[in-house]
Amino acid sequence: MAVPARWCQPRTEAEISAAVKDAAADGLPVRALGSGHSFTSAAATVGVALDLSGWSGISAADTQTGLVTVRAGTTLRTLNAELSGLGLAMANLGDIDAQTLAGALSTGTHGTGARLGGLATQVEALDLVLADGSLVTCSATSRPKLFAAARIGLGALGVITSVTLRCVPSFTLAADERPVPVDDVLEQFDSLAAANDHFEFYWFPYGRQALVKRNNRLSPGDRDPEAPGSPGSPGSPGSPGSPKASGSLASRPGSAVAAMPGWRRFWEFEVMENAAFGTLCRLGRARPSLIPALNRFSSAALSSRSYADISHRVFVTPRRVRFVESEYAVPRESLLHVLGELRRQVPRLADPVMFPVEVRVAAADDIWLSTAYGRDTAYVAIHQYAGLPYRSYFDLFESIVAGVAGRPHWGKMHTLGMERLRLLYPRHDEFRRVRAEVDPEARFGNTYLTQVLGDPRLPADFPE
Ligand SMILES: Cc1cc2nc3c(=O)[nH]c(=O)nc-3n(C[C@H](O)[C@H](O)[C@H](O)COP(=O)(O)OP(=O)(O)OC[C@H]3O[C@@H](n4cnc5c(N)ncnc54)[C@H](O)[C@@H]3O)c2cc1C
Repeated sequence: MAVPARWCQPRTEAEISAAVKDAAADGLPVRALGSGHSFTSAAATVGVALDLSGWSGISAADTQTGLVTVRAGTTLRTLNAELSGLGLAMANLGDIDAQTLAGALSTGTHGTGARLGGLATQVEALDLVLADGSLVTCSATSRPKLFAAARIGLGALGVITSVTLRCVPSFTLAADERPVPVDDVLEQFDSLAAANDHFEFYWFPYGRQALVKRNNRLSPGDRDPEAPGSPGSPGSPGSPGSPKASGSLASRPGSAVAAMPGWRRFWEFEVMENAAFGTLCRLGRARPSLIPALNRFSSAALSSRSYADISHRVFVTPRRVRFVESEYAVPRESLLHVLGELRRQVPRLADPVMFPVEVRVAAADDIWLSTAYGRDTAYVAIHQYAGLPYRSYFDLFESIVAGVAGRPHWGKMHTLGMERLRLLYPRHDEFRRVRAEVDPEARFGNTYLTQVLGDPRLPADFPE
């Protein structure tokens, strides 16, 4: 494990710049820290660790254009709350909000939505402190190559100090979650992805059921779950105490949904999805031979619900059961092959798998190191309960996705090195060229970057 030579908590851009210059004077590498939620050692350093938690909050906002400038150390939780206060929101989010904005961007964090990209596609401009301590701004029109690289920059190009996001007006999501036979989900995968704003599903590897989640935007007139007395709001006349899913997979869920009462939210998210599932996981860890049965039980116990809430309260759910994770982005059309192989091969593993597989989608984008660069994407995330053996499962997964040019999430466990990644990312060489220009001495280097990017000093025969 890498132990930093020193920690530093800058609170201004000038202090961030001074910390980088001091590190250079002492011959030490520097890494900015996010919230430490990556499963890879992306943030590890033996040099200077920059803790940006004191550099937080929105610094400028234009509610007309939706352009909002955010300090890099702001957590997504704080950002969502501050945006909400301005009547704005992120267009898409992942499923937790503990990450810092810069940390989430730097590894390509994404949510789901066939017509939407990951968080980095919502970035309009970045301010960065480079290796020489200078502060630069980049955008599509100013230093566009640096911008194409740094939106998902792995912390390799500089310390992001501020991010200008293009936000959207606050919106309400209608959430519909229901168990569906996994065969049906796979058969309808393309139409489900196309018909819903945010579509994903979970599948327990030994079970026959998948949990399908469809989150769709309500138009402003449909309802506002925060408004007292709005139809179905907690306590309003006719509010059902226990929201139920209705309709079928064939139709897009309608707008006649209620906010989830607080007690129900606590029961569903905290008790059932965390406390009860955590108990099953502990049982499985104590008696691994029970895992396939426990997994089938979890699959059979899936239940339906539908509710509506402001977007970030639907996107984000508590995740208190600890796990390890690997996630690969595959071309959308390869999803059925990947899932088919997992279904065929996981039951043969000597070490059984306790956690579900999660499948999400994203639109193609043009960010050089984005896992969705140039292709409509399906994300397949595999997990194992912390403390259970996972190596053979993750190796099997990597061997399956290797056959369909799978690209690993930069913040989740994978074993790929630079040579393989060059083949998977058409702009990998260009990224390295930008890195060689802005950080020729690897001031921001660490072991992980050496694995995935190699040395910043490029060989003389490096392609133009
Ligand atoms: C429970 C859980 C749920 C998750 N859910 C999702 C999900 O839904 N979707 C998804 O895509 N991913 C998800 N992830 C992965 C997570 O979003 C990424 O690993 C993310 O990078 C973590 O952000 P962080 O703030 O913890 O950054 P860290 O892990 O601390 O750092 C990540 C990288 O960012 C760099 N960095 C941080 N700040 C700066 C800066 N100011 N300038 C330059 N570089 C910087 C670091 O040096 C490091 O390289 C999840 C992870 C966990 C543990």
